[in-house]
Amino acid sequence: MIKITFPDGSVREYAEGVTGFQIAESISPALARNVVSCGVNGETVELNRPINEDATIALYKFDDDEGKHTFWHTSAHLLAEALQELYPGIQFGFGPAVENGFFYDVMPANGVAISENDFPKIEAKMMELAKKNEPVVRKEISKADAMKAFAADGQTYKCEHIDQDLEDGTISTYTQGAFTDLCRGPHLVSTGLIKAVKITSVAGAFWRGDAEREQMTRIYGISFPKKKMLNEYLTMLEEAKKRDHRKIGKEMELFMFSERVGKGLPIWLPKGTELRLRLQDMLRKIQKNFGYQEVITPHIGGKNLYVTSGHYAHYSKDAFRPITTPEEGEEYMLKPMNCPHHCEVFAWKPRSYKDLPLRIAEFGTVYRYEKSGELHGLTRVRSFTQDDAHIFCRPDQVKGEFLRVMDIIQAVFSIFKFDNVEAQISLRDPNDKVKYIGSDEVWAESEQAIIDACKEKGLEAKVEYGEAAFYGPKLDFMVKDAIGRRWQLGTIQVDYNLPQRFKLEYTAEDNSKQTPVMVHRAPFGSMERFTAVLIEHTAGHFPLWLTPDQVAILPISEKYNDYANEVQHFLDAQGVRANVDDRNEKIGRKIRDNELKRVPYMVIVGEKEAAEGLVSMRKQGGGEQATMTKEEFAARINAEVAEMLKATNLKPRD
Ligand SMILES: [Zn+2]
Ligand SMILES: [Zn+2]
Repeated sequence: MIKITFPDGSVREYAEGVTGFQIAESISPALARNVVSCGVNGETVELNRPINEDATIALYKFDDDEGKHTFWHTSAHLLAEALQELYPGIQFGFGPAVENGFFYDVMPANGVAISENDFPKIEAKMMELAKKNEPVVRKEISKADAMKAFAADGQTYKCEHIDQDLEDGTISTYTQGAFTDLCRGPHLVSTGLIKAVKITSVAGAFWRGDAEREQMTRIYGISFPKKKMLNEYLTMLEEAKKRDHRKIGKEMELFMFSERVGKGLPIWLPKGTELRLRLQDMLRKIQKNFGYQEVITPHIGGKNLYVTSGHYAHYSKDAFRPITTPEEGEEYMLKPMNCPHHCEVFAWKPRSYKDLPLRIAEFGTVYRYEKSGELHGLTRVRSFTQDDAHIFCRPDQVKGEFLRVMDIIQAVFSIFKFDNVEAQISLRDPNDKVKYIGSDEVWAESEQAIIDACKEKGLEAKVEYGEAAFYGPKLDFMVKDAIGRRWQLGTIQVDYNLPQRFKLEYTAEDNSKQTPVMVHRAPFGSMERFTAVLIEHTAGHFPLWLTPDQVAILPISEKYNDYANEVQHFLDAQGVRANVDDRNEKIGRKIRDNELKRVPYMVIVGEKEAAEGLVSMRKQGGGEQATMTKEEFAARINAEVAEMLKATNLKPRD
């Protein structure tokens, strides 16, 4: 018998060789119907893999990330199986699961092109094959046999992959029906669980992402265990299209891109700039309460700065190439991170334990290289501004500082009503310690500080091994938006390594020299990404305090334009952002147009209003309507804004 430990800590005994599926069956038939793969000692494997020793187990359903991955990965094989039948002689590259589905890179024989018109035929073939419910059979084979088998099939890309990337003794294949793929797994036990598929797009993709190599055809798809789930997904996609921040950003004149300025370099237009400054001011106010001091540092830094920090060695392929001065030949880099500059701020003068924690904040613009094909609106850019800060503190202050940052992040989320927040703790891969800098002891200490802080805040966080950055473990916050999509936002990261590399020190109480600990944090992540998420979350209906135009003033006819302007000046003096719509249009048309512009309040002014100093208020969406004095209206708007920003008055608890 072997002992199987479940996620809740309970232990059950099973016969040696038991499978994940049998364990699920022993719990309930319903679970056995819905489980798609399992985690054995942290590794996701097939449900029919025998377990031969004591182990921990997690049973994954489609709803779990690991389950989706297994499901979509198997669907990529199903896609390939269908393509092999439809396009004889087709060659296969890589076919992984991705965040929303899967893709396969393929090269059809004789220059045949696969286009959108072929999608229905591919989907139908996939469903026809899935209905056969073919078992997916794993086989371990030698490198020589793998080469022979895939060469015999004419799969030159697979052969190149085997030859260049794989080691003898680690190679496995999976076969379903007439299709065999080179793969590490895991997969569904059979293809019949796939009940609905949709091919979503087709694009060109270089083999191995190398622009010097062959252009292959990348076919994207998504699949589900229930037909209904596919329909829901398609509805969500339609909604997502309407909320695309690139489209709304253009309509609301928030930001632009210019080919001449450069790809992936966003330009904030006047309305977007005002919005961004309001976001910054909001966070600034909270940070001030929490004892942060702001600095401004240059957009470039000497190459040596990044050699010292270690970013040059670890990050250089994601950074722009160094810039050289014309005469002295000095080398500079566009700043990929603000941290090294802030380390220099700490080192600027002698620091004592009494100065700590030192909290240095900057809305710092950084530059990173992203492949041009991967740029996307404001979410994948080459320049962005982090709402960055670095906290230098004593080791015994780490947990306390961590808790304070968590308070700030939670205040920010509450202001935007992101109430569906998930957290992830990223720790080191305990089996592969080579890629991380810093001692074992230091890692253990910082990892424990994060786990303890989450516990103390009652924050349920998922622990991921091997997801930490090279310089330290971290805590990431994910939010779910209004249509259920997940976005990664704020990050807090403990770092014992950078202060050592910069030889930072402070004088301790006993007069000894000690190394401070550094905490990196960014509640928004970046201004660009956060703005994109907000646009897609709210569909451009920003909260009143943030939105570019709070009020549209609509005179009933030209006769009342003067009074409309008077109201606008009055509101302006009260800090309310209002515009007059003095176009020569019917009032109904003006209301419709300003509804479309997502202006939260409209005020209509005519004869009665002008004579008595009144405004007739109308809420966006045809909600509440009321007539009041302009003073009352301004007070109402300001009170509503103040209520929304209440969380910015938050003070630290100690
Ligand atoms: Zn596979
Ligand atoms: Zn940093």
